Amino acid sequence: ATLPYDESNVFARILRGEIPNRTVYEDGHVLAFHDIAPQAPTHILVIPKGAYVSWDDFSARASEPEIAAFVRAVGRIAREAGLVEPGYRLLANTGPNAGQEVAHLHVHIFAGAPLGPMLA
Ligand code: 5GP
Repeated sequence: ATLPYDESNVFARILRGEIPNRTVYEDGHVLAFHDIAPQAPTHILVIPKGAYVSWDDFSARASEPEIAAFVRAVGRIAREAGLVEPGYRLLANTGPNAGQEVAHLHVHIFAGAPLGPMLA
């Protein structure tokens, strides 16, 4: 069972404007910003504006327009940043064994150098 959404999580606070962020992209459904502790030369986080705890929660409960906007935005951000040809990696840690730290769905975009086999 998915935990209830906690409105005090750090990405909820970013969405409310309570914490600053370096925005890469924003539309009605999606916000993307640079990770505060980058693990690659380019490290962007993409989040839905809706209150979803995780990939599991989002994929189960989000509307078709929210899902479409999110998937399109991830692709568009990478494309417009010129990441397609050199390549990039997507990651969505989900739950304790994955080490998910922030309980608001976020997809990591890693790029800018050869990434090796795995990133935490
Ligand atoms: P997770 O481990 O949950 O997949 O990833 C959480 C990510 O959020 C980490 O990469 C961490 O550096 C990032 N993060 C945590 N707090 C903040 C913050 O206040 N601002 C930004 N931009 N990133 C954050």
